Amino acid sequence: MKCHRHETVEAIGVCAQCGRALCRECAPPPPAPLACSAGCAEKFSAERTAIRQLLARSEQNARASAAYYFLSATLSGGAAVAAWFWLPSPFLIAFAGGGALVLLVAALWHTRAARKNISPPEN
Ligand SMILES: [Zn+2]
Ligand SMILES: [Zn+2]
Repeated sequence: MKCHRHETVEAIGVCAQCGRALCRECAPPPPAPLACSAGCAEKFSAERTAIRQLLARSEQNARASAAYYFLSATLSGGAAVAAWFWLPSPFLIAFAGGGALVLLVAALWHTRAARKNISPPEN
């Protein structure tokens, strides 16, 4: 593949935004994203920022869900204990206890999802 600007020079990569082939001379130095122009570089980092914000927001949602499930699990567990003392019905105890267990698992799952460090691939 040849550079889009220099037809005789072998490309070393493509623009991250528009996909044009770039040679060593046309590509920006490493810390910058691989882009054919300032416009493409700007667009690319703007999109990446948007993705980062989206990921950060979903992480917050996962954390909120985890808190919600932990609370529900505690309430269900409390209901199971209450049923044990005041309504000695095996069905109620099993129902509330089982619900608490399921909610606890969901809470742990969401906690793990919130902790997972998601970052978009570089370049
Ligand atoms: Zn481009
Ligand atoms: Zn070039």
